[in-house]
Amino acid sequence: MDPQVEPVSYFCGDCGMENKLKPGDVIQCYECGYHMLYKKRTRRIVQYEARRKNQAKLDSVLACSFVSYFRTC
Ligand SMILES: [Zn+2]
Repeated sequence: MDPQVEPVSYFCGDCGMENKLKPGDVIQCYECGYHMLYKKRTRRIVQYEARRKNQAKLDSVLACSFVSYFRTC
């Protein structure tokens, strides 16, 4: 089996920038350096990418897929 993994998209909890991370990568926004990222749950979320004014929407839609150094869900 080929062990290669695909990057997973996450959204920054601060600026909303989309980050693509692979398992083992540091959880940190490469736009602003924020350490809390939200995992993208559905493709529909893509339309919210990198829009600061939509951060509140992201927070509510992705509240339970919160990812950080401390797993909460
Ligand atoms: Zn950011």
